[in-house]
Amino acid sequence: MDRFREDAKKTPLGLTVNGTAGVVVATQNFGVLPTKNWQQGTFDGWEKIQGEELTRRFLTKNSACYGCPIGCGRKTKVDDPRFAGQGEGPEYETIYAMGSNCMVDDLAAITKANYICNELGMDTITMGATIACAMELVGRGYLSEDQVGRSLKWGNAEALVELTRMTGSREGFGDQLAEGSYRLADRYGHPELSIHSKKQEFPGYEPRGAQAMGLAYATSPIGGSHMRGDPAYFELFGIPQPVDPHEWKGKAKITKSFQDLSAIIDSAGLCIFFAVRNLTDKQLDVPPTGILEYLNAATGAEYALEELMQAGERIINAERLFLTKAGFSRKDDSLPKRLTEEPAPTGPAKGMVCHLQEMLDEYYREQGWTPDGVPLADRLKQLNLL
Ligand code: SF4
Repeated sequence: MDRFREDAKKTPLGLTVNGTAGVVVATQNFGVLPTKNWQQGTFDGWEKIQGEELTRRFLTKNSACYGCPIGCGRKTKVDDPRFAGQGEGPEYETIYAMGSNCMVDDLAAITKANYICNELGMDTITMGATIACAMELVGRGYLSEDQVGRSLKWGNAEALVELTRMTGSREGFGDQLAEGSYRLADRYGHPELSIHSKKQEFPGYEPRGAQAMGLAYATSPIGGSHMRGDPAYFELFGIPQPVDPHEWKGKAKITKSFQDLSAIIDSAGLCIFFAVRNLTDKQLDVPPTGILEYLNAATGAEYALEELMQAGERIINAERLFLTKAGFSRKDDSLPKRLTEEPAPTGPAKGMVCHLQEMLDEYYREQGWTPDGVPLADRLKQLNLL
């Protein structure tokens, strides 16, 4: 902790200064800021919703989890009478989902909708992604504004806030939004407009310009999530080592390593922000050497590094076994066709698609699973799961 604090004095961490909202600049620059229900990866209004704006306009003070020297949390207050309120956030994922993804560049509205979700216990990613899906259904004429009961054009800030509130109380069209984007899009005959994997909406990193993220969403045991493996650290931030975000070859290895690492971090009760930067070695297989020191000091056990890394692998394989028994296989490790067949129209990833099937072949080999994604007996024996 002393070492960390000394370093932080020299270069204050972006997370401390602008919170996770600071990520908007990076994703916009890489062309991976999901925009207009994932039709593109750049947003013209990005400067109005980025972290510096949040800090300048609404931040009242930082907040931190117990004992954390980073303090990425944001206590905020909005005075704008249209969207007045106070609370925590918004985080980056909320800003993408309710902002660029809905083409809303009004940070006060995003922050207000975020407060409503916090207060009512709703997930901001799914809320924003479901409203974006509804906006596309309306834009393409598959759903009428009469059915919604109000105007729902791209970028409508008032609609974002009002529909979030109505979802929480399942009022009017909010009753349909409360079912999430998959059921909504399916109901109107266009399930392809729900951007999901295993029916869970994605966090804010476009796989056409960050290939490993596509593989991570598709293979995450709980559906599209950045909390079960987030190789955007490698691809966008060069942590622990920079890799080319547009290259798909070799991404299976780092995705697997990051998934194993995330299982260890979650099980040890640590925060991914601190642990990835400060408690791993700068190698592609992200050895958790710092976590090992913490764990051995806290428990008195004398785990070896290999044992700890194998614990992560065992968790991922046990979860996969559960999924296999529940009928999941390669067919479910999927991404929407928008990301695998429609080339990105803007930004540095222009013309690219996500090479999921090629990466899946590599990934299953890395895992020691069949080409259909089922763990092999030899692998399970190695991990003491058989
Ligand atoms: S523990 Fe993690 S989430 Fe909590 S304040 Fe620190 S960096 Fe942020």
